[in-house]
Amino acid sequence: MAESFHLSPSEYHRWLMDRIRPALAWGGGDVAAWQERLREKLREVIGLPPQGVAPLAPRSLWKREHPLGTIEKIAFAGEPFADITAYVCLPKNIPPPYPFTICLQGHSTGMHVSIAVQREDETKPLAVEGDRDFALGTMARGMAALCIEQRSFGERREQLQQQVSRDGCHDAVMQALMLGRTLAGERVGDVDRAIDYLAWRGDADMDRVGVMGNSGGGTISIYSAALLPRIRFAMPSCAFCTYRESIMSIYHCADNYLPGLLRWAESADVLGLFAPRPLVVVAGREDPIFPIAGVRRAFEKLSAIYAAAGAADRCLLVVGDGGHRFYADAAWPPLLAFLRQRVPVPQPH
Ligand SMILES: [Zn+2]
Repeated sequence: MAESFHLSPSEYHRWLMDRIRPALAWGGGDVAAWQERLREKLREVIGLPPQGVAPLAPRSLWKREHPLGTIEKIAFAGEPFADITAYVCLPKNIPPPYPFTICLQGHSTGMHVSIAVQREDETKPLAVEGDRDFALGTMARGMAALCIEQRSFGERREQLQQQVSRDGCHDAVMQALMLGRTLAGERVGDVDRAIDYLAWRGDADMDRVGVMGNSGGGTISIYSAALLPRIRFAMPSCAFCTYRESIMSIYHCADNYLPGLLRWAESADVLGLFAPRPLVVVAGREDPIFPIAGVRRAFEKLSAIYAAAGAADRCLLVVGDGGHRFYADAAWPPLLAFLRQRVPVPQPH
C-alpha cells in the first residue's frame, strides 16, 4: 500500500472552511445594529467605488414603440471612462410614477436578451430561453424596467486590450483586485448609478425600485440588495446558495469571489442585510452550479434573520422544476403581491 498524500489544494481549503467561523455572521440580537456592522465590512471587502465622481450626463440613443409599451435606449456615466448603456422600458397604458425593476443579465451576450432583440441589430427579434427576457416580463406585469449593461458583458465587454482572456470577466476581475476593488463592487456601483438615473428622470416611483437577475445577474442583485438602501425589493435567481456548496465547491467565474469574505460572513448573512425589505429568492431544482440542498440550507438561515427583523412573511423561496434559469410564472406573483401590499419599508441604515 503506497503512502497517501494530500495533494489537491481544495482538500486543505475544505479543511480550513470547516474551521472558519465568520466573525460577523448573524448570531441573534438587534438586527439593525448587526446589519450596520456587516454592511460596513461588506462595502470594504467588495471595494465599492466612490459615487458621483463623473456627471451623470444622460443621453437618449433611440426610442421605439413595442406591443408592451415603449423602449428607449439610453447611456449615462457610471464613473469617468465607464459609461453605462441601458434600455428604459415603460409599460403601455400605465400612468407614472412607475415602479421600476432594474434587470441584470448574467454571463450572456448582454442586456439585449432582456428585451429579446439581437445585440448587433436591435430591430431584429431574438428567441430567448429560460424566461431571460426580463424586461418584457416586467412590462407585461404593468411595471417599468431599466436594463443596464454590466461591466464585461455585452456592449461593455473588453474591446481595447491587445490580448484578452477567453473568459470575458477574467481581465477586469484581476485588474480590479490589484486596484483594491472587485468587478462585483464596480457592478454594484453601476446599479447605484442606475438609481441616480431613475431619480433624475422624475417619473419613477422611488419607493418601488427593485432589482432582479439570473445567475451572474442574480449575484449582483444580491450584493446590490445588501448594500444599496434605495433598493426596495429584490428577486435574485439561481445565485443564492451557501458559498461552501456553490462557489467554494464548483467552478464559477472569478467575479463571484470577494477577498476574505468568508472570514466575515456566509451568503445568508449577506442577503440578510436586505431584511425587512420584500425578497423573492428563485432557484432551480436541477441547477448544477447552485445545488438545491445548499440553497435550502442558506434560505433557512436567511429566514431566521427575516423573522428576527419581524418580516418572516416578506422573504420567499420559489423553486422551479428545472435547471439554471429564471422561472417568471412562479416568481412574479408573490413579488407582485408584496408590492401591492405597499408595506411601509423602514429605511435601512
Ligand atoms: Zn464573470
